[in-house]
Amino acid sequence: MNLNEAIGRLNDAERDLLAYSHAMGVLSVDGDTVAPKNSAEGRAQTMSVLSGFYHEIITDPALREACGIILAAPEVDRVTRRRAEERKEESDDFFITPKDEYMAYEALVQEAGAVWHEAKGKSDWEAFRPYLEKIVDFNRRYAARKDASKAAYDVLLDNYEKGCSMAALDPFFADLREKLTPLIAAVGQKPQPDTSFITGRFPVEKQRIFSDKLMALMGINRDDCAIGETEHPFTDSNNKHDVRITTHYHEEDPTMSMYSVIHEGGHALYELGVGDELQGTCLEGGSSTGIHESQSRFYENIIGRSLPFCEALLPLMRDCFLQMRDVTAEQLWRAVNKAQPSLIRTEADELTYSMHVMIRYELEKAMMSGELAVQDVPGEWNRMYKTYLGIDVPDHRRGVLQDSHWSFGGIGYFPGYALGNAYGAQMLRAMERDIDVWGPVGRGDLSQVTAWLREHVHRHGRLLLPAEILRSAVGGPFDPSCYTDYLTKKYSEIYGL
Ligand code: ZN
Repeated sequence: MNLNEAIGRLNDAERDLLAYSHAMGVLSVDGDTVAPKNSAEGRAQTMSVLSGFYHEIITDPALREACGIILAAPEVDRVTRRRAEERKEESDDFFITPKDEYMAYEALVQEAGAVWHEAKGKSDWEAFRPYLEKIVDFNRRYAARKDASKAAYDVLLDNYEKGCSMAALDPFFADLREKLTPLIAAVGQKPQPDTSFITGRFPVEKQRIFSDKLMALMGINRDDCAIGETEHPFTDSNNKHDVRITTHYHEEDPTMSMYSVIHEGGHALYELGVGDELQGTCLEGGSSTGIHESQSRFYENIIGRSLPFCEALLPLMRDCFLQMRDVTAEQLWRAVNKAQPSLIRTEADELTYSMHVMIRYELEKAMMSGELAVQDVPGEWNRMYKTYLGIDVPDHRRGVLQDSHWSFGGIGYFPGYALGNAYGAQMLRAMERDIDVWGPVGRGDLSQVTAWLREHVHRHGRLLLPAEILRSAVGGPFDPSCYTDYLTKKYSEIYGL
């Protein structure tokens, strides 16, 4: 095979791989949104067959040879080189897992998802426990095959956030614990802001109209991005012209869906902003979970929960909700920044959010090392919520069963949420040096913020590694103190500390 033939082989394989990913992505979104409950078994069967075809293509010796030839050729352009690098690593990943075992695992996580859903509803930990045990076992075996010289959890962390390890995360989370625990306690001593005007009855019909206005405010092209409704909001992207976000409407509080739409809208803007030259390749998505979360949480919290954005938001809210008639932007800003330790990560405020992530990180680390048996996870979960957030967990539904991640095998995924918060705070500091952020945001103009993020983050897709993106955006290495400084300043102002 010469270099041209190798590039042709990579192009052909990518076309087929992306077609299978596309089909599986649409099936999965369908399963989460409109498919009937009993469709789960049939879908699991189809997914298992499709992933078998995917496995065949990605482990094809001719593709592996092609990637090797491309990587050995110094004259290859950097997009093709990165594609070969990514596909080679993905192929290696599949190569170390026998096809039968891989397909059985796909079927296991499909089933585990349905079991988790039911178990959560009934707060039935024992129903889910055997599935988590199998998922942890598989991931331990996978990690040992991939790199026996590394701790299993480090192998998983590196999959979600290239270059990430416990050696980097331990001091990061220790710093958060040290700086945020007293801040959370100090906020807890202060009177809480009035939130009465965002509780009551906000018809879902009106909230749907409000979602349209929010997406327009964010500059999201609706011809490229659709919105659906699910219990747990998410974003799924097939390419930059087919992005799906979802939200969940709570009739008694419009801000819950509002911040879901802004968060998922942030993920969507990332996918919609990837460079055209990367479309149709494995580089067309985001760089990592941490960088992805930095974008969603930048819009949700740093922009979305700022006083200038509340000024821009208020007229739109008044159009939809009569209750907002006499509310001021400052009242709204204080209300949406109410901070109080709570049980549910996805509903947590900006101040306590990363503590929920820290708890999951410590549990995953101990589960993967074997220090903590799966059966002991709920007890440890409850103990840590008491220690770090000062609250009692009343049942497993609002405790250890609240998140879907472990059911789909997403061990090592959570730290990305906290890293994303910290990356975002560091990006804000750099953005404020480059442009006037808050003047336009206060007038409802997010175009300059999005243009900055597009230039420094979005357009690169997966071409750059997370640390390279951060360095290109902020001009230096990761500095988590930006995040704790940002939270300290913000909450000191809101709560008068
Ligand atoms: Zn997210």
